[in-house]
Amino acid sequence: MTPAPIPLVDLKAQHAEIAAEVEAGFARVIAETAFILGPAVAEFETAFARFCGVPHCLGVGNGTDAIELIVRALGLGPGDEVLVPANTFIATALGVLRAGATPVPVDCDAFFLMDPGQIEARITPRTRALLPVHLFGQIADMEALREIAALRGLALLEDAAQSQGARRHGRASGALGDAAATSFYPGKNLGAYGDGGAVLTASDEIAAHVRKLRNWGSEQKYHHPELGFNSRLDTLQAVVLSAKLRRLEAWNDGRRRAAARYDELLAGLPGVETPRTLAGNEHVWHLYVVRVPRRDEVLAKLNAEGIGAGIHYPTSLHLHGALRFLGYREGDFPVAEKAAREILSLPLDPHITAAQQERVTEILRQAL
Ligand SMILES: *Cc1c(COP(=O)(O)O)cnc(C)c1O
Repeated sequence: MTPAPIPLVDLKAQHAEIAAEVEAGFARVIAETAFILGPAVAEFETAFARFCGVPHCLGVGNGTDAIELIVRALGLGPGDEVLVPANTFIATALGVLRAGATPVPVDCDAFFLMDPGQIEARITPRTRALLPVHLFGQIADMEALREIAALRGLALLEDAAQSQGARRHGRASGALGDAAATSFYPGKNLGAYGDGGAVLTASDEIAAHVRKLRNWGSEQKYHHPELGFNSRLDTLQAVVLSAKLRRLEAWNDGRRRAAARYDELLAGLPGVETPRTLAGNEHVWHLYVVRVPRRDEVLAKLNAEGIGAGIHYPTSLHLHGALRFLGYREGDFPVAEKAAREILSLPLDPHITAAQQERVTEILRQAL
């Protein structure tokens, strides 16, 4: 008998916990027919802002839009440069580009985070903002980045798509810069049942501007003083997100327990390098990423055995065809490029069992 496959993340187990709440919430929205920016959106925005310890949360269409709207709300556009990590999902760069500004990659450190030591070399007279990504669930070195931003007069932003609930020295992801973008793509720690995103900020100005931009550039019906977009968090998605938010701390605890178990199980496997946590961070393990030799072979073996391992991400930002026009070459970001060849994400979510993790470890041992 072949054992059941082990998915990278088990969204069915998450749904089983919230099914009744979601059903009742959907029924209420449908009864009210408040489908666009209904009360459920405001309820979620208030709850998530409080959860993050930030005055404002604005629900938007997705995480990429959240980045674009922040960059636009800051008044940045053509000719302005925004520093982003070389190792991130392409959306970080696309959000900047869609606002008309230019993403400038920065190499990463041993934690897979934007390396503060690599920033000065990438700063030009056109640099306007730093946009670190709290990759895999842990927060970038925001104190070091804040120092550089203050010295150079730059905005400090956060791509918090992978870090919902993460803390650094006790402060939550989303509350550590001038504004943060997050994504509720289904597989994120706080995931919707479709697309969704949010902007978090302590700035009344940025909040007011994003509120306008997401709603056709309008504060008042049929008054459009500036060009805007249609990018709003869907009311039905807000119902799902509120239900999941109530469990987020418990689910992140489950992820931490699972990560600690992998650390133990993998300690005896020569060749496997387990992930490190930057001092001061409370990690939320969006992904558990190891380094292994002969990565592609190992991944193929795991997948063949029904283990939903993956690579996040196989190609550094500057080497994507879509971003070649930025003019970078292979070798420009050696730490990120080396990571892209060695990294492997193992299945991990709040509901993974010890037996499943033991099986992942056993197949990994065989593959090595
Ligand atoms: C998921 C993700 C995004 C994009 O979010 P969408 O909601 O899919 O547009 C941006 N940045 C990072 C780091 C992400 O993981």
